[in-house]
Amino acid sequence: MKNGPRAMFNLNSEAALVLFSGGQDSATCLAWALARYGHVETVGFDYGQRHLVEMDCRQQVLQEGRAHFPQWADRLGPDHVLDVPVLGQMAETALTRDAEITMADNGLPNTFVPGRNILFLTLAAALGYRRSIRHIVAGVCETDYSGYPDCRDDTIKAMQVALNLGLNARFVLHTPLMWLDKAATWGLAERLGGEELIDLITEHTHTCYIGDRSRRHEWGYGCGECPACQLRAAGFSAYAASAALS
Ligand code: ZN
Repeated sequence: MKNGPRAMFNLNSEAALVLFSGGQDSATCLAWALARYGHVETVGFDYGQRHLVEMDCRQQVLQEGRAHFPQWADRLGPDHVLDVPVLGQMAETALTRDAEITMADNGLPNTFVPGRNILFLTLAAALGYRRSIRHIVAGVCETDYSGYPDCRDDTIKAMQVALNLGLNARFVLHTPLMWLDKAATWGLAERLGGEELIDLITEHTHTCYIGDRSRRHEWGYGCGECPACQLRAAGFSAYAASAALS
């Protein structure tokens, strides 16, 4: 029967692929995945970010993670970097060009790259398919996100359905930070890896839109002014205040 139902593509249920940008959120997701799955790979996307500093931070976090968390070293598999220059071609935004960060009429900052996370999840699933990895982990968040519609829980759930139909596989998309604010994300990191993981994330991850690593604050490096720095700073002080109380 030529057009009959095909057997579903076989994926390894013990393996996870983390969308890993080198930022606080994806580093926390990496620790989350390493606590759960026996084999964890990472994928990053190079799309002509004007701050290649993020790509360097990815390597730093992986290297420091292997060095400081021996339990990670056995589980951490290859890191993949996919070139997605088409996004730079499509986007006229502050992340890919030297432009000021401003708010557009629709309330979205011009750091929004239309369709970016949809494309990333599609590429991650394609890579997961090649690598036979069932679990795909993304650090998207609906709680204090910048209003990006492709970070919404409904978008992710719809993507899981579309990818599973389109690839005839059974991927599971995980978003451990979806309902956490930034303070709770620091708290999750502490539960996963204690003070040592907090220090690693503070020192080696990068969130600043401007790509500034010349200024060190208690929450890490960054310009301190851009929306990403402000969010990270506010989250860290809320986390530090609650940690001091407990
Ligand atoms: Zn900044």
